[in-house]
Amino acid sequence: SRYTKNDIFRMVEEEDVEFIRLQFTDIFGVLKNIAITSSQLERALNNQCMFDGSAVEGFVRIEESDMYLYPDYDTFEIFPWRPQQGKVARLICDVYTVDGKPFQGDPRNVLKRAIQEAADMGYVFDVGPECEFFLFHTDDNGLPTTLTHEKGGYFDLGPIDLGENVRRDMILTLEDMGFEIEASHHEVAPAQHEIDFRYDEALITADNIMTFKLTVKTIAKRHGLYATFMPKPKYGINGSGMHVNMSLATLDGRNIFTDENDERGLSEDAYHFIAGLMAHAKGMTAITNPLVNSYKRLVPGHEAPVYIAWSSVNRSPLIRIPAGRGETTRVELRSPDPAANPYLVLAACLAAGLDGIKRKLTVPDSVDRNIFEMTQEERDKAGIEKLPENLYEAIQCMQEDKVICDVLGEHIVSKYVEAKLKEWNDYRTRVSQWELDEYLYKF
Ligand code: GLU
Ligand code: MG
Ligand code: MG
Repeated sequence: SRYTKNDIFRMVEEEDVEFIRLQFTDIFGVLKNIAITSSQLERALNNQCMFDGSAVEGFVRIEESDMYLYPDYDTFEIFPWRPQQGKVARLICDVYTVDGKPFQGDPRNVLKRAIQEAADMGYVFDVGPECEFFLFHTDDNGLPTTLTHEKGGYFDLGPIDLGENVRRDMILTLEDMGFEIEASHHEVAPAQHEIDFRYDEALITADNIMTFKLTVKTIAKRHGLYATFMPKPKYGINGSGMHVNMSLATLDGRNIFTDENDERGLSEDAYHFIAGLMAHAKGMTAITNPLVNSYKRLVPGHEAPVYIAWSSVNRSPLIRIPAGRGETTRVELRSPDPAANPYLVLAACLAAGLDGIKRKLTVPDSVDRNIFEMTQEERDKAGIEKLPENLYEAIQCMQEDKVICDVLGEHIVSKYVEAKLKEWNDYRTRVSQWELDEYLYKF
């Protein structure tokens, strides 16, 4: 591992760190933290810091509320945007129960369990995400709007692009925190951006996604803008995705998805993995696309997937095989959006892919033409199914998928389903502006 306890004491001392944030993520992907001063560091590093779990949505009931935070020493990082004297650092923590067991409702623990299962099979799970987001103006009270003055589009270059400077600042800040930024660009919609950082082992990547979102929001605010990872903030233009690029390696780091003798350069295991993702595509949609709003992104015409298919040549399907081969061979899942809990997304993807490998599932034919241009009859004939169309359908599909329920564990499944059904019911009983516009005068 990267740091020992002494390293952390030394860094806190040398860097004049005053506050340390002990971070964890709730079931719904929201970053939480309790702040301590450096005087409490010893206690924190000895796993003695406690918090009230009943205050965290989806965690526990009042009567079993005490939880302990076990910091992961390797995640120590100083926030570059805080003051240079009396600095602020963070440690990402695992959540434990009073009797010293990993808490079943801790998403990071769910991903760790899934990773351990892969390790037992001899695999390391590597993941690189593509996070998209919008930068909007705030109103006079500092509240977010969906307004933007810019008209930039895909790969556009300033000066029409107001977000350019902001994005640059985000990248420099992320690099200060150890991120290796591979690319960034203006996305298709006005005010939409993407910043890609280098792939890593799944747990590190999930932690990085949480840090990424915090950093992007923080730096946007500093420039007077609001960054949102809401999947579909505006009707009629592209939404934001969080495509996930995945590969498996041997324990000594050899990519096992590559096979130069195959016509597409993919190994048997890569095909099984893809087949596993497809078999569980419906079952994991409630996790990859967690909001009522997520389903407004998954519609035709906006580069988001709708149908369950794969291809190595075109971009429209759910699963794409990007061009890189050899060590960079990977499978890209295009359904996840950035509102999803990255720990649960990666755990679900890994479980799905491994299920494909364990059961040696075979992939259906790849679909190398535009699925949206096929007729329903053609799609039926090719056996191309749809992703769930809304949160309610997705929840039902998840409950029917044993592999996905198993990897998430009973605690999380029950809390998740309960909360998401409530969200769905809350939404579906509201009367929207669209309905008033359509019906009020007509009927
Ligand atoms: N914004 C698109 C989505 O919702 C993806 C665009 C792209 O291919 O990068 O998934
Ligand atoms: Mg993109
Ligand atoms: Mg992509």
